[in-house]
Amino acid sequence: MTSVKHMKWWGWGNEGVGFHHEDKPGFAPFVEYAVGLDLGTATRAGEPSFDELNVPKSKATVAFTKQLAKIVGKDNVTRDDMVRVIHTYGKSLRDLVRIRSNAIKRCPDVVIYPADESEVQAIVDAAVEADAVIIPFGGGSNIAGSLEPMPAEKRVVISLDLGRLREVIAIDTDSGLARIQAGAQGPDLEEQLNAQGWTIGHFPDSFTHSTVGGWVATRSSGMQSDKYGDIADITRGLRVVRPGGVLVLRPLPSTSSGPSVREMVLGSEGHLGAITEVTVQVHRIPAKRDVYAYFFPNWKSGIAAMQAIAESDAAPSITRISDAKETGFSLATSKTRTGFSKFSAEKALPKIMKTKGWNLDEICLSFIGFEGSVSHAKRQKALVDKIVGKHGGMGVGKGPGILYDQKKFDTPYLRDFLLDMGAAGDVSETATPWSSVVKLHAAAHTAAQQAYDSLGTKGWIMSHMSHSYHSGACLYFTFAFTFGDDPLGEYDTVKRAIQQSFVDNDGTISHHHGVGVEHSPWLEQDISPEGLKLVRGLLGAADPKNNFNPGKITPDEGAALPAAKTAPAAKTAPSTTVKAAPAKKAPAKKAPAKKAPAKATASKAAPAKKAVSAKKSAPAKTAAKKAPAKKAPSKATPTK
Ligand SMILES: Cc1cc2nc3c(=O)[nH]c(=O)nc-3n(C[C@H](O)[C@H](O)[C@H](O)COP(=O)(O)OP(=O)(O)OC[C@H]3O[C@@H](n4cnc5c(N)ncnc54)[C@H](O)[C@@H]3O)c2cc1C
Repeated sequence: MTSVKHMKWWGWGNEGVGFHHEDKPGFAPFVEYAVGLDLGTATRAGEPSFDELNVPKSKATVAFTKQLAKIVGKDNVTRDDMVRVIHTYGKSLRDLVRIRSNAIKRCPDVVIYPADESEVQAIVDAAVEADAVIIPFGGGSNIAGSLEPMPAEKRVVISLDLGRLREVIAIDTDSGLARIQAGAQGPDLEEQLNAQGWTIGHFPDSFTHSTVGGWVATRSSGMQSDKYGDIADITRGLRVVRPGGVLVLRPLPSTSSGPSVREMVLGSEGHLGAITEVTVQVHRIPAKRDVYAYFFPNWKSGIAAMQAIAESDAAPSITRISDAKETGFSLATSKTRTGFSKFSAEKALPKIMKTKGWNLDEICLSFIGFEGSVSHAKRQKALVDKIVGKHGGMGVGKGPGILYDQKKFDTPYLRDFLLDMGAAGDVSETATPWSSVVKLHAAAHTAAQQAYDSLGTKGWIMSHMSHSYHSGACLYFTFAFTFGDDPLGEYDTVKRAIQQSFVDNDGTISHHHGVGVEHSPWLEQDISPEGLKLVRGLLGAADPKNNFNPGKITPDEGAALPAAKTAPAAKTAPSTTVKAAPAKKAPAKKAPAKKAPAKATASKAAPAKKAVSAKKSAPAKTAAKKAPAKKAPSKATPTK
């Protein structure tokens, strides 16, 4: 068996690790307030049973599989059902629901793990020769539908897993450039860099399970991008295996050699070949790294402060501010406080805020990071403190920032937990110029609420500004609702409304999650019909037989490349290319649905061998509707 480790086949992260809220007394009341779901009485669906999953039969013949085995050895190629399911989807809500509701229409037929670039070349050449489909696979963490084989694909689909290519090959210490194999996951590469005193500075929330090749292929962004840049800035050189040869882009600090081929590969989602190596700029590990928390009286003043910081001489590594709803969520769901921390958070700080005339329902929590030498970090903080003060904000020290830093990689497990309990949660993110940030934020909230109203369900949306630039910022929205009979159809309604509000309000369809099939219906509105023609032209010319990850980025690409007819720019949301799979009932399973434990078990996934049907686990929709309009749990300010 291959040495490559994978996430759970049915959810986020490592086996045996899950979200729990036993140490967060405000969590359950908040969930009830936000989406009308009573965690105390909702039935918890357990881990789905793999045995009950209908896995489409592999189309890879024994002869073809043997041909591939000659390249990588028989232990590194497989038609095993579980491995094929793991390589079918990313980790979007749509992906998780389809797996849970036994609605997988197409899987890769064979999964292959090459050891080096020459093996990747041999696989690509053999695949194109056989007119097979090749889908490069990094960590499988994308949430834009960037991996799934198209349901109607008749050809053999190969999932090309780069997981064995995980070395930091060399560091050019004179230039601060590191050559890294594309399949290296965040912890792999950061550990190897740290051992020599360097850091990449790229820390997406999915860091623990995503790869540098995947970051490049989706144009990823990390939480410290204000200092280190997005992956598009960090990536200097590339090696990409294409049919018959390797595209080599040397690591140049900058160049004016025509249109940027490097930029073409960035965000190409496997369409232009398999990235085998990325040369990234790296930095010496900073002597000082602190994240401070600030409060602002409201969203408008907080955003104005973030813009002023972006325009100033200050260069923080993180500028992030939550809107009032997300602030409420963070405060209500923090861990139990005791002693001075409790007094400070629940009594002293609210008192100070009230004295200032703040409405506690409007306060916004911000995290700002400072990194570098001790004197640099100190100076940046002094500059930021001044700007915060000018905009009516106040600092509350490092305590909440330490907590934020510690739990940032744990929160992804929350979505599986909610799904177990009958609520759907997902995210949508965009970037827009400063002049439209407040407008777009309000429009997305209104759009989501209208979608919930049209479904007759109680839903929630909250957001934060997560990355800032000289001319604008990224806004990141988290939405959740209690689903009824058709989780995917209901999800589509909400997600479409939010996405459409982005393009209607000067935002892009995605700041850092890519396009996949999830966002492709809006690509034309984002980049104009001529832009879409150019993208189709590039992908069609580079891959005339559509062998590389077909169906992603451009809508209906398989049918129309390269001379696609362009649809008129729609004002209303087009329907997504992937139709919501009917929420099938899981195969009959007699085990009684488990009651939600009053206290969720610490760091343990739900007990094995429980049937999971998204439908089954949904509490009756009417229950959600009937949930009394509760008052928001009172906000308290954490100091720790
Ligand atoms: C809980 C959660 C949190 C997340 N947080 C963030 C975040 O903070 N920032 C962010 O940017 N994203 C985030 N994401 C999204 C996701 O992690 C990114 O899109 C990531 O870049 C995907 O990397 P991967 O290695 O998992 O790629 P995969 O999911 O395996 O693949 C994604 C796409 O890239 C292509 N690809 C992968 N490797 C290669 C290669 N070597 N050569 C050519 N093509 C390749 C695939 O074919 C596919 O089209 C998050 C996702 C989840 C589930």
